[in-house]
Amino acid sequence: MDFKTGIIGSGTSVGGDVDLLIAGGGPAALAAALYAARYGIDHVVIESYQPGGQAALTALIENYPGIMEIAGGDLAEKMKEQAEKWGGVFRMETVTSTTSREEDLVEVKTDSAVYNAKYLIIATGAAPAKLGVPGEDKFYGRGVSYCATCDAPFFKNKRVMVVGGGDSAVKESLHLADFASHLTVVHRRNKFRAEPYLGKKLLSCDNCDVMWNTTVKSIEGGDGVEAVVLNTPDGETRVEVDGVFVYVGRRPSTEPFRELVDLNPDGTVKTVNVVHTSRKNVLAAGDVTDNELRQVVTAVADGARAAAAVFDLMQQEGDV
Ligand SMILES: Cc1cc2nc3c(=O)[nH]c(=O)nc-3n(C[C@H](O)[C@H](O)[C@H](O)COP(=O)(O)OP(=O)(O)OC[C@H]3O[C@@H](n4cnc5c(N)ncnc54)[C@H](O)[C@@H]3O)c2cc1C
Repeated sequence: MDFKTGIIGSGTSVGGDVDLLIAGGGPAALAAALYAARYGIDHVVIESYQPGGQAALTALIENYPGIMEIAGGDLAEKMKEQAEKWGGVFRMETVTSTTSREEDLVEVKTDSAVYNAKYLIIATGAAPAKLGVPGEDKFYGRGVSYCATCDAPFFKNKRVMVVGGGDSAVKESLHLADFASHLTVVHRRNKFRAEPYLGKKLLSCDNCDVMWNTTVKSIEGGDGVEAVVLNTPDGETRVEVDGVFVYVGRRPSTEPFRELVDLNPDGTVKTVNVVHTSRKNVLAAGDVTDNELRQVVTAVADGARAAAAVFDLMQQEGDV
């Protein structure tokens, strides 16, 4: 599933003038596209990789109201189909920079086009944070991974380590435990930050163990990962593993908007009333914002609100 099939929906020109440009293609953007299409707003969604964003990279979603459980990729596919059904317009490009020379127009440059948008919704989400230890970059794709859903099958009957203790770390550990011969979870605190239900489930997993108050010093190996050196409360230790999955947080993807809107020190977009930014015609939605809970349900709610806010502004301006 991707946008490689090209332009979906109404528009066929690349770049140009558009009423609303939605940057990103995760749940926030897909909801914004659905609502924008239903409001009849001329729009385009610009996604660099695949629809669904982080949600498409998780094996199982069990907390989206109304759906008992669903693979993240399937939920993303349904969201995209629904937006398309109402006329959602998608392009596979990467937003590289944004400027606003005129107060009511945003120039959005992508890797292959230039758009002039009256309104912009920033919904570029977040990317995995790195550990920043020796060996992490060297063994990326050769044992170091940030996506259990993508890579778990490569570790069937192998020893795997997960670093982190939040929802993503614990949930993806449970998925990995079905493949790995043994799973070690390394967490820098003395208890999980994840939902208690998930934490309990992991602690009762037969082939898993948890190392509390422990951090990663380095990742070692030859052609691939062979071991991880850890700082534990009892000193340094070396644990032999075949793979390391890193879930230590996310960093917001806001680089292209740095000059356009106010950002917080952590890089998230500063928001007022959930989706409004420091610039009237620029809205933000989902994990890219400073809103606290970062889940699919909050991302889609933000996306809907952002599209509704654009519709209100357009009505005020007499554009619709
Ligand atoms: C491992 C894991 C498991 C999770 N499990 C759950 C769960 O069970 N339940 C739940 O509710 N939530 C879960 N989440 C969180 C949920 O996936 C996110 O909160 C949600 O996807 C945020 O949606 P978003 O649209 O704001 O951003 P994202 O999902 O991050 O999507 C942003 C999109 O923007 C694109 N993009 C970024 N930069 C650019 C650019 N410059 N140009 C064009 N496109 C760009 C990206 O490619 C991406 O597709 C999980 C997250 C992870 C990492």
